[in-house]
Parts: sequence; C-alpha cells; structure tokens
Amino acid sequence: MRPIQARISLGALAHNLRVARDHAGAARVFAVVKANAYGHGLSRARRALAAADGFAVLTLEEAANLRLMGVQQPILLLEGLFGADEVATCAELGLWPVLHHVAQLDWLQRLPPARPLQVFLKFDSGMHRLGFPLADHAAIVARVRSLPGVAGVTLMTHFAQADEAAGVDWQLQPFLSEVADHGLPWSSANSAALLRYPITQGDWVRPGLMLYGASPFAEVPASQLGLRPAMSVHSEIISVQTVQPGEGVGYGQLYRAEQAMRVGVVACGYADGYPRNAPTGTPILVNGRRSRTLGRVSMDMLSVDLSECPDAGVGTPVELWGEGLSVDSVAAAAHTSSYELLCALAARVAVQETD
Ligand SMILES: *Cc1c(COP(=O)(O)O)cnc(C)c1O
Repeated sequence: MRPIQARISLGALAHNLRVARDHAGAARVFAVVKANAYGHGLSRARRALAAADGFAVLTLEEAANLRLMGVQQPILLLEGLFGADEVATCAELGLWPVLHHVAQLDWLQRLPPARPLQVFLKFDSGMHRLGFPLADHAAIVARVRSLPGVAGVTLMTHFAQADEAAGVDWQLQPFLSEVADHGLPWSSANSAALLRYPITQGDWVRPGLMLYGASPFAEVPASQLGLRPAMSVHSEIISVQTVQPGEGVGYGQLYRAEQAMRVGVVACGYADGYPRNAPTGTPILVNGRRSRTLGRVSMDMLSVDLSECPDAGVGTPVELWGEGLSVDSVAAAAHTSSYELLCALAARVAVQETD
C-alpha cells in the first residue's frame, strides 16, 4: 500500500475547542466546520467537537449531513440561502441562515417558512465582501424584524485583519456603535479575533482554524497559543538516489547538488495536497529529524535531502507536517497559509483517527 497517511487526533480537536471556550468568556461557541472541517472530515469533527454550542457550515448539504449525524445544536449557514428553494429546507432542519443581501430577504418574505427562522443579519464593517452596508442598519433591521418568517435576529460582522497589526478596532467600533441601538445579540470573532481581542466576544464566537491546531498569526506559533495540531501527514521514503556535484533533481532540475549527496524520494505530492509551490528548503521531518525538500514537488512524489540522515533508506518514515513540524511553518515556506494546506488534503490520502 502507498505509505502516505494522515493521522487526525480527536483529542487535539477537543482540546482546541476547550482553548476556544476559555477565550470566549460568556459567549457561545460555533465550531466552524466548513470545507470538510478544514480537511479533517465533517463526521470526525462533529464527534470530537460535540461539546460546541453550535456548528457553522457553508451549504445546506453539510448542514443536512450534520443533522443526519444527530447534531441537535444550532447550525449556522455562513453564506445563508443561495436560492428561494432553500427557505423551506432551512426551516425543516432548523438551520440558522446568515442574511447578507436583499434578495435573501425577498425570498423569506415571499415564502415565509412554516417554522420561523433564527437568522444572523450580516453587516459589512469594512471587509467589503458580504453584508449590508452599516449605514443602512436601521432600515434593514426593521425590515427583517417585521418578517413573519423570522423568529429572532443576531447581528454579525466579519474582520478582514484580525490577524494583522491593523487589528479589529477600525471595524468593531463602527459596527458596535451603529448596532448598539437595536439591543440585539451579536457575533464577530473568528479565531484571530477570539485569541487576541476579548472585546470581540459578543454573544457567539466563530472559531475555525484554531480548532484544528494552527495559528492565525504569522508571528505566533500555535504551540504558544496552547493549541495542539489535529492533523499530521506521514509517509515514507520509497527510493534513494545518489547525485553527483552539478547534477539536478526532479522536474526542471531546479535543485543542483553542490557535492555528492543522497536524495530520498517521498511518497507525497501535490495530488495529495502538498503545496506544489514549496521551494527547495521547505522543512520536512525524516525519521523525526528536520531536513529540507529539494527541487520541484511532483504530483505523487517529492525529494528530500538525506545528507544529515545517513541511516535513512527505503521505508524510513517522513512527516510532512503535524505534531513534529507545524503546518504553519510548512505553509510559510511555501508562501501560503495553513488554511490552504489543511483544506487541500486530498481524498486519496488514507486517514487514521487517533485519540
Ligand atoms: C470561515 C469563517 C470563520 C472562521 O474563521 P477562522 O479564521 O478559521 O477562525 C468565521 N466566520 C466566518 C463568517 C467565516 O466564513
């Protein structure tokens, strides 16, 4: 069998949820499990994160799956309804849609569901992605509260720079001052805001990335935030080459040896979800020892430097990222983010659950 495998720790997921809760104060916690729980598996995440107060997903299908799995907690649809036909299902399954544009209000008005919905009304406080303009809040809140299909309203916004020096104040202060008049519950925090700005807690927080044990901050390792990596990707060396000075390795011959050296070929490539952009020098563990990738990542394989690993050979274990090597450090070397690496784990990679 091809030796690549992802190990997913249910204990780490549960631990990270406790860390999120410690930061949430009195707020309730939606575990954000969109994108197949950031690559960790929806069903697995819902079991490990069963103590969450709610779950947040993107699609009706994900929400319906969670209900089939027995989820009783509230389920938030982060982008709300994609069409008028979704109103009825939303009501049947007791889902909470985010409402962020006028057409969604029209659908609800035209087809009021048998069971009125709890809705999250999203305002754009500066990200300019989803949400009603803050300036329109009085009219929008009044309209939504008057809809017979709506049972309750929570106000919501999303931060563009919670992980950066610019922070959240420039968005949070306008949001709070505009919406305070309504006396409604509110929700704003993603992982970065939850970890760094207690003032963003509100009534519901929405952590995603931190639950999986990665850091939203470029300069702060996840371990320093008390988080444990939930996903570790392991494989093995399947071939060893000896290359001479001046000889190249892999497609494009991007790496050229300076001296005679041994090169290991690992069963992991971009079709497994490893970033093709990872350049020579991306960290990787060979038998627990830190080494570096060499040359271009192929579809099914990549090469590693075995100069410091004289005992390594065919069958030697390799860790691509996980408990021994943070996904954040691999992402940084590949000029991407841990979000992208976790979500990209390919379906062809076998998964083993661990405690
Ligand atoms: C994905 C998402 C989150 C979670 O963000 P993280 O940075 O992963 O914590 C929170 N809120 C909304 C609206 C989202 O789309």
